[in-house]
Amino acid sequence: MYINGTWTEASRDASFDVINPADGSVLSQVFDGGADAARDAIDAAANAFKSWSKTTAYERSQILYRAYQLMLERKEDLAKTMTLEQGKPLRAARTEVQYGADFLLWFAEESKRIYGETIPSARADQRFIVAHQPVGVVAAITPWNYPVSMITRKVGPALAAGCTVVLKPAEATPLCAIKVFECLIDAGVPDGVINLVTGRDPAPIGEEFVSHPKVRKLTFTGSTAVGKMLAGKAASNMKRVSCELGGHAPFMVFEDADPVHAAKGAQLIKFLNTGQACISPNRMFVHASIAERFVEVLSERVIKLRAGSGLEDGVAIGPLVNEAAVGKVASQVDDAIAKGATLHCGGKRLTDGGLDKGFYYAPTVLSAITEDMLIYREETFGPVAAVMTFDDDMQALEMANDTNYGLAAYVYTRDIGRAMRMFEGLEFGIIGINDINPTSAAAPFGGMKDSGLGREGAREGIMEYLETKMGGFSI
Ligand code: NAP
Repeated sequence: MYINGTWTEASRDASFDVINPADGSVLSQVFDGGADAARDAIDAAANAFKSWSKTTAYERSQILYRAYQLMLERKEDLAKTMTLEQGKPLRAARTEVQYGADFLLWFAEESKRIYGETIPSARADQRFIVAHQPVGVVAAITPWNYPVSMITRKVGPALAAGCTVVLKPAEATPLCAIKVFECLIDAGVPDGVINLVTGRDPAPIGEEFVSHPKVRKLTFTGSTAVGKMLAGKAASNMKRVSCELGGHAPFMVFEDADPVHAAKGAQLIKFLNTGQACISPNRMFVHASIAERFVEVLSERVIKLRAGSGLEDGVAIGPLVNEAAVGKVASQVDDAIAKGATLHCGGKRLTDGGLDKGFYYAPTVLSAITEDMLIYREETFGPVAAVMTFDDDMQALEMANDTNYGLAAYVYTRDIGRAMRMFEGLEFGIIGINDINPTSAAAPFGGMKDSGLGREGAREGIMEYLETKMGGFSI
């Protein structure tokens, strides 16, 4: 843990194990903090806010820029740590470190653009000015699937705005959080401005975050169930809340699209991070006239994906995060097959070649998915492509919107009118039109409906950490 400028090492009576999901081995021990640690961290952040909020945007920008440089200098070490504790292949881990660092660079620049405005008054002797000020202490909770970028996407704008932070990273990935903190500390973030509370049991820490009067904002990324519970409690204490929650992305391929190109895109985005991404396509809607070719190409590509430790060359599919994740994926696949889905490849746990010690599930393609199957409704968070067909655009749009989630959606078409109708009609916050990577530090990321509140990254991202203050001046 890191509180008020001091690291606390794990001790025999207060620690928990960090596990390598590739083989179940113990990588390290981390301090097991609870409510007391969270309170100390909040007090430290509240105290540091007095001076940090008075620094100039230029000072904060310099520190964030230096942290960005340090993350890039330490990219290889950060990526290796990520592969070891989270499981994604090293190449993907490097890409995430770059993506994570990009948020520090972006918000180093945005800190200097926290503009206010003046508003004309109807009275000749009156002036209105509007200014933005940091909200105060920010409590942040992050998940394990993107263990570096989910931190910088919150801490970057919070620091840029002049807020101080207490972070609770996921139990599965505290080592990445420690390394990101080292970059920020070495870049010159003063004591108390950022605080890290690691813990095995998230509930008491979360309880402090949503109830402590000195916390002014909760920012959460994780499951919809936990997000709703925390947001409800935070709202009853009048804290500002942003939530990036679960997803159930539709991937729509229209009759005028090239099925080969679309299948390539579907494979790349679906199996990214072994399907453990909030923007991962959960249901693929393919026009009946090209569905056979789409499934054929998709399956050919998926069969070739090699599973194994992310440290090995040529591995595209890392382990799932834990045993429960394997169980969830298996139950969705078994349920779909029992209800009539066609299995094209995969469909089982992988144990051969030394994979039995890790949490591996074979990359899987299913077709003939129907609305009564679990996979049609539930977020999978695993390496399963689920394909269903449609005949009519409006039918496809209705099915795509037939979910409580609203994070990302993908559309493949060459028809600009159809692309625009889908962009406007889809009830999702991020739409990729012939684009499987519609994310960047410069673009607003976030969901509608049960996928969350607020946006991260972009111009919008920093506004989540600012209050609006209006002054009426009688002259
Ligand atoms: P999770 O169980 O909700 O955990 C997320 C974070 O919340 C972890 O740090 C976890 O701590 C903590 N947490 C769990 N219960 C808590 C409680 N009672 N009080 C306070 N904190 C609590 O979600 P997950 O399974 O790790 O993450 C995957 C989910 O995140 C998926 O649904 C995915 O779609 C979503 N996600 C969304 C985005 C986005 O931007 N929209 C990005 C990435 C992931 P522990 O680790 O200690 O349990």
